[in-house]
Amino acid sequence: MGVKIFDTTLRDGEQSPGVSLNSEEKLKIAKQLAKLNVDVIEAGFPIASEGDFKGVKRIAEEVSGPVIAALARANPKDINRAGEALKAAAKPMIHTFIATSPIHMEYKLKKNEEEVLEAAVSAVKLAKEYTDLVEFSAEDAFRSDKDFLCKVFAAVIDAGATSINVPDTVGYATPQEFGGLIKYIKENTPNIEQAEISVHCHDDLGLSVANSIAAIENGADQIECAINGIGERAGNTSLEELALIFNTRYDYYGQKTDINLKEIYRTSRLVSNLTGMDIQANKAIVGKNAFAHESGIHQDGVIKERTTYEIMDAQTIGLKENKIVLGKHSGRHAFRDKLEDLGYQLEKKELNRAFKRFKELADKKKKISSFDLEAIVEGEIAQVEEVYQINLLQVTSSSGLSTATLQMEKDGEKIFESACSEGGPIDAIYEAMNRITGLECELVNYKIDAVTGGKDALGEVIVKLDHEGEIYLGRGVSTDVIEASAAAYNNAMNKILNSVDS
Ligand SMILES: [Zn+2]
Repeated sequence: MGVKIFDTTLRDGEQSPGVSLNSEEKLKIAKQLAKLNVDVIEAGFPIASEGDFKGVKRIAEEVSGPVIAALARANPKDINRAGEALKAAAKPMIHTFIATSPIHMEYKLKKNEEEVLEAAVSAVKLAKEYTDLVEFSAEDAFRSDKDFLCKVFAAVIDAGATSINVPDTVGYATPQEFGGLIKYIKENTPNIEQAEISVHCHDDLGLSVANSIAAIENGADQIECAINGIGERAGNTSLEELALIFNTRYDYYGQKTDINLKEIYRTSRLVSNLTGMDIQANKAIVGKNAFAHESGIHQDGVIKERTTYEIMDAQTIGLKENKIVLGKHSGRHAFRDKLEDLGYQLEKKELNRAFKRFKELADKKKKISSFDLEAIVEGEIAQVEEVYQINLLQVTSSSGLSTATLQMEKDGEKIFESACSEGGPIDAIYEAMNRITGLECELVNYKIDAVTGGKDALGEVIVKLDHEGEIYLGRGVSTDVIEASAAAYNNAMNKILNSVDS
């Protein structure tokens, strides 16, 4: 039997500091997770906000394949809200939790053991009224009294829980201890065979993957993890690392996950782009350098025989070479075929916009590589309905003073505005755009990166804007970094305007 993968990118991952996804972006990620073939998608925490509720509801309506789970504390209000959000799902799951460690019960919940036990059982019973699949989590399980933990698990399984989750909420465990805890739970919970055992480890000490594997070796069935390991604080168990460990070392573990490995690279990129969370270059599996060889001796070895220095093949995770694929004269047909080769299936509107962007780029840059295409397509995927369009942009800058003049368009109306700044040309552009849209927002992050090498490289700009306490991410791609900067800001502003309207 394989190791089950419960993905929490959209719930725990979305709780990463500085990350906030709108329902459109959540849906995009959920659809990609379905392609990746995870067993469970935890879509969100519906009681947390209107936006969270809407995100879960849309995923329940539109994503098929995996089980769709929603989180709820062990109280009727949370559970009813989760049940409501999941109504349309083919395979809904309510994931309810309450803390069982002395420190959490005393200071956070102000409840004693009996009260916690009772809340857990009634929560599971209520959740069962909505769906057959109910997971119960004992928050801070690792720091809980082992016998009390087993007592709670036995009671919730009696009440109908189909899986019990053992979280190391604060990332304190070591592999031997955590494996030992799973073994103890299996030996001391009388009805444990009636439920699956899930684990949820945090990476505060860099041990989440090792702890999760130790749990599997001791009889756990399911691992909760997130793409690129994102999540609260230092994050969660990284899905791609787990999937590749079980695949590469099948000789040792003798079990695999059902993950469609070829979708790993694309999923990792999509999550990084939409959350704005970078992947460190030396990150295992999906980092820029994960399959790069710098030393001459290594390069020579790999050319003669790949396995001299590589234990995995980059193509396993869907990583493509950066080859020249299209040119100035390539037509719409070739463009679409190439995208399909790269694994992208765009809707008609997205395809039209992407083709237009491709033509603009091909005018400036003769040879278009697969990385350029990915940047264009991922840009289109991150787009929202454009309330404002940028028609013209002119910038002058000298001796510390910059002036930007813009013409933007909204519903056919053309609006001109200029602004001066001592803070550089980008600052002047953003000031002019603020004046046109009348939006009050603060730039909290600006990042620029080259997609490919060379002097006609595509520049990618990512900005984060704070509008009334919410963070909005914008992305822009162009051979001209000034243009890319304006496009990124406009993208974020349009997201703000879309969320205000709906
Ligand atoms: Zn967590």
